[in-house]
Amino acid sequence: MVDYHEAFRAAVDAVRAEGRYRVFADLERMRGQFPRALYYGGHNEHEREPREITVWCSNDYLGMGQHPAVVGAMENALQKVGAGAGGTRNIAGTTHYHMKLERALADLHGKEAALLFTSGYVSNEATLSTISRILPDCVILSDELNHASMIEGIRGGRSIKRIWRHNDLEHLEELLAELPADRPKVIAFESVYSMDGDIAPIAEICDLAERYNAFTYLDEVHAVGLYGKRGGGVSERDGVAHRIDIIEGTLGKAIGVMGGYIAAKADIIDAIRSYASGFIFTTALSPVLVAGALASVETLKESNHLREQHQERAARLKKLLADEGLPVMESVSHIVPVKVGDPVHCKRVSDYLLEQHNIYVQPINYPTVPKGTERLRFTPTPLHTDDHMGDLIKALDDVWTALKLKRAA
Ligand SMILES: *Cc1c(COP(=O)(O)O)cnc(C)c1O
Repeated sequence: MVDYHEAFRAAVDAVRAEGRYRVFADLERMRGQFPRALYYGGHNEHEREPREITVWCSNDYLGMGQHPAVVGAMENALQKVGAGAGGTRNIAGTTHYHMKLERALADLHGKEAALLFTSGYVSNEATLSTISRILPDCVILSDELNHASMIEGIRGGRSIKRIWRHNDLEHLEELLAELPADRPKVIAFESVYSMDGDIAPIAEICDLAERYNAFTYLDEVHAVGLYGKRGGGVSERDGVAHRIDIIEGTLGKAIGVMGGYIAAKADIIDAIRSYASGFIFTTALSPVLVAGALASVETLKESNHLREQHQERAARLKKLLADEGLPVMESVSHIVPVKVGDPVHCKRVSDYLLEQHNIYVQPINYPTVPKGTERLRFTPTPLHTDDHMGDLIKALDDVWTALKLKRAA
């Protein structure tokens, strides 16, 4: 007899045995006080009073999730049109807010059109799997560090996958050169890689794409809102957005709300809209979310102020960590990884910071990063003050001493 219950238990035990079992941090964000939040002590919520902590690992990179323009737009939309979209995009679910946001996103990336999805994950998964159905015999060349949602999309389609070594142009060219000239080729990659904070050589990848007549697909999830004069991402900053065929982004990170999208030429968008199952057969994003995202995108287009503060805060934190002899990893972006190099220590550092210092930073372990490079990943925002940083450095100094961890050379 099949013991169903046992099968599920065994699956979880396997995760536990690998040290990958995850426990949620039960938080309540406090509008107006980000990055402060209430922490409900894991699963003991009924036994303990919540306590105030400082969040150091949020992807709400600019604090737009509490920006007055965003919250105000969402309140207005809720009062005006109610809570939900009421249908899929094709059946009663397209609201005027959706149309306006798609125009704003197309404009943000200098593209003819854009298409909304319910998340960045869904946009990658649905678009990449649809591309390989539209391009027969397609080969997708995927950077080895691409996000799980891209990998799933590629796996879900009918194309062949070739993996190129991370950001390695020579290897990419080698793989391109091996393929017949008439074979459809898609180069799929990210701009900012979120665990190391490094950035792809987008212009050089576009050069290769032109030389070998390949189609380009760029995930700008960790760059949208954060780079470029209007927040169009690294492709805007580098002046190469027009050379990318499809730019993909999220509304859930720097934009501070929820949802995902792609931007491209109108005929490409029309095809994805017409074929992608993950777009067609799901209820449209709530107009409330869409209104908030629209206000956020427009706010971030108008001024560089938050982007400049964001970069200044990241540089400041990197310097403070280095000055203290803490092993901050090299990063050319706003991501600030600090290496621990051991999964058990990494988890203990994180627990210690939360219990002893009211500081929340999630441990990043294998398989998210390679074994031996386990780390803490800090995401300073414009709302992390010098005081927050001072407290963090003191706390890290304490835990590094308490657990006898390695300092930088
Ligand atoms: C988070 C993430 C996504 C998914 O975006 P969501 O809107 O959170 O679903 C896609 N790509 C990358 C690189 C990401 O880090």
